[in-house]
Amino acid sequence: MIEVPVYPSGYPCKCNGNCDYSRAYERAGKPRFIDYESYVKKGFVPATNREKSILAYLKTTYCLKK
Ligand SMILES: [Zn+2]
Repeated sequence: MIEVPVYPSGYPCKCNGNCDYSRAYERAGKPRFIDYESYVKKGFVPATNREKSILAYLKTTYCLKK
């Protein structure tokens, strides 16, 4: 598990939902911890909508507004 670093606003960047990255984080349900290893494992197939949205979030390019 990895802890997702977030700002006091609850978002991983300073856009608070106004960029693709923070929107993807929102759609993933703003998880504070992600089982990163299993998502990046070769051949991983998301089984639920939540897993799908988390995978989509992990694939979103990191926003540069830190
Ligand atoms: Zn952003």
